Amino acid sequence: MTTELSFFEQVNKNFDRAAALTDHPPGLLEQIKSVNSVIHFTFPLKRDDGRLQVVHAWRAEHSQHKLPTKGGIRYAASVNEDEVMALAALMTYKCAIVNVPFGGAKGGVRISAHEYSVGELERITRRFTFELNKKNFIGPGLDVPAPDFATSGREMAWIADTYMSLNPHDIDGLGCVTAKPVGQGGIRGRVEATGRGVFFGLREACTVVEDMRALGLSPGLEGKRVVVQGLGNVGYHAAKFLTEDGGAILVGAVEYEGAISKPDGIDVEELMAHRRATGTMLGFPGAVDLPSREAGLELDCDILVPAALENAITIDNAPRIKAKIVAEAANGPVSSDASNHLFERGVLVIPDAYINAGGVTVSYFEWLKNLQHVRFGRMQKRFVEASSRKILAAIERSTDRIFSDAEIADIARGPSEIDLVNSGLEETMIEAYHEIREIWRAKGSGIDLRTASMIAAIDKIAVSYRELGVFP
Ligand code: NAD
Repeated sequence: MTTELSFFEQVNKNFDRAAALTDHPPGLLEQIKSVNSVIHFTFPLKRDDGRLQVVHAWRAEHSQHKLPTKGGIRYAASVNEDEVMALAALMTYKCAIVNVPFGGAKGGVRISAHEYSVGELERITRRFTFELNKKNFIGPGLDVPAPDFATSGREMAWIADTYMSLNPHDIDGLGCVTAKPVGQGGIRGRVEATGRGVFFGLREACTVVEDMRALGLSPGLEGKRVVVQGLGNVGYHAAKFLTEDGGAILVGAVEYEGAISKPDGIDVEELMAHRRATGTMLGFPGAVDLPSREAGLELDCDILVPAALENAITIDNAPRIKAKIVAEAANGPVSSDASNHLFERGVLVIPDAYINAGGVTVSYFEWLKNLQHVRFGRMQKRFVEASSRKILAAIERSTDRIFSDAEIADIARGPSEIDLVNSGLEETMIEAYHEIREIWRAKGSGIDLRTASMIAAIDKIAVSYRELGVFP
C-alpha cells in the first residue's frame, strides 16, 4: 500500500497547484486556505444496554468569508479532524464554484451508524446539536449543516427540532439545517439533488464535442457505459438519472458486499429491490458477481462514478482504471497522486467540488425558502397559468391554430416548487461547468479540470475578501 498525503494535505496540494497559476498575494491565498475554526468535543452516550460510551465529534468552519457556513454531517468510524477540515475546505471551494453564497463547513461523528439503534442515533444527534448550539456552531446565519455519509432527512429533522427548542425566538430557526423532510421545512427535490446534479454535470461535459473527441467518445450520454460505486443517496440517484433520463447504460455496480457486472445494462430499481429483498447486490439475475469490490472499479466502461467515500482510487489501483471519464460524486474519491496519473493518461476527472455540488445548491434553495417562509411557486403558479392561457387564446384567435387540451395543459403550466428547484439546479450545473471549462481551456493542456475549478474558486473567494476590505 502506497503511503499518500492526508486528505487535508491532498486538498491543500490541489489548492497550491491552482494558487500558483493565479496572481493573488501569498497572504490572501494563505487566508483562503486556512480553516477558520474547528472544534472537537466528546459527550457521553448511554447505550440501550446501559453501557456508557464516549462519542467523539467535530465541526470545522473552513471559511467565513460568506455566512452562513455550510456543510454536511457524516457518521462514520473513520471520522477524524483532518477529514473534517478537508471536507470543510472542499465545501468552501464547492460553494464558490457553483456560485452559492456560503462559506464551507463540515461535521462528523465517529460512529458506525449501523451499529446503533434508531433511539441511540437520535440521542447522539440531539446531543451533537446541543453542543453545536452551545458553542455557536449552528444557526441560520452562522453555520447550517446538511446530510452526508450515513445521515439523512431523519437526522436533519432531529437537528432542526433540537435547535428550535433551544432558540424558540429565532423566527428563521428552520433555516438552521437543510435537507429536512418536506413536512419539516424541507424542499422538494433535495433528497435526489446531488445525484441529479451529477447527471446534469456529466450530461453537460458529454455535450462538448471537442472534449469527447479527445477522449475517443461520441458526444452525448446516450449509450455511455457507466459503473457506479456506492448505491447510497448520491450513487443511487446518479445511476437512476443517468440511465432513466440520460440513456446511459449501467454496466457495473459496487457496494460494501462486492461488485457486479452486466454489460447489457442493470435496471437500477430492480437492483435496489433485489438488494432490499436479499440484503446484497450479489446474485442479481443476469449479472456476474465479480471477485472483489476493486474489480468493479476496474471494469471496462466509459464513465466511472465513485459515490461512496474518499480514496476509492489511489495510485495503487489508478493504473487499472479503464474509464475515460471519472465523475467524483463522493468527496475526495480520487487521491491527489491518482488524479495526476489519470490526467497523464488522458482520463477526464470531473472534480468533486463541481460534480457533487447539486446537494449544496438545492440546500441553498431550501435555506432561502426557510428565510422567506413561503414555498417557491406559491405566489406565481396560478398567475403564470392564467397569463399563459390568455396568450394561447390570443394565438388561437389570430391564427387557425386550435390547441388541444393536452397542449394547453402542457404549455400553460405554472411552475411548482419541484420545477423551480430542478430548473435552478440544472442552470447552476450548466453555468458552472462552462465557467471552469473556460479556465481549463484558457490555461492550456497542462492543467486538469480540478485545477481549473480550484482557480475559479480562488478567484471568486479572493474578490470577496477584497470587497470585505481585508486585503487590498
Ligand atoms: P450514503 O451513506 O447514502 O451512501 C454511501 C454508500 O456507499 C452506501 O450505500 C454504502 O454502503 C456504500 N459504501 C460504503 N463503503 C463502500 C465501499 N468501500 N465500496 C462500495 N460501496 C461502499 O452517503 P451519501 O450521502 O450518498 O454520500 C456518499 C458520498 O457523497 C460521500 O463522500 C459524501 O461526502 C458525498 N456527498 C454527499 C452529498 C449528499 O447530498 N448526500 C452531497 C455531496 C457529496
